Amino acid sequence: MNSGKHNIILKLNSGEIEIMLMRCPNCSSKDIGKIGTQQFYCWNCFIEMSISGNELTIHQVESDGSLSSLNDLFTEEERKLEW
Ligand SMILES: [Zn+2]
Repeated sequence: MNSGKHNIILKLNSGEIEIMLMRCPNCSSKDIGKIGTQQFYCWNCFIEMSISGNELTIHQVESDGSLSSLNDLFTEEERKLEW
């Protein structure tokens, strides 16, 4: 937590690492829902975020239900998980 741009918190919860996303990297909303163990959804800007490896992958859900990647909008630094 140095610059405040890392909004992903990893905590150990009874032996398992629990990932918490505190703020949306896109709109800074705190209205984040957890939709899977490593998947999150922003109710404010309707993007889906998932953890893959050491990175946060950001997708937009299109009206037809398909996902389009928004990773290009963020720097590697912004998407990197800090362990
Ligand atoms: Zn958002």
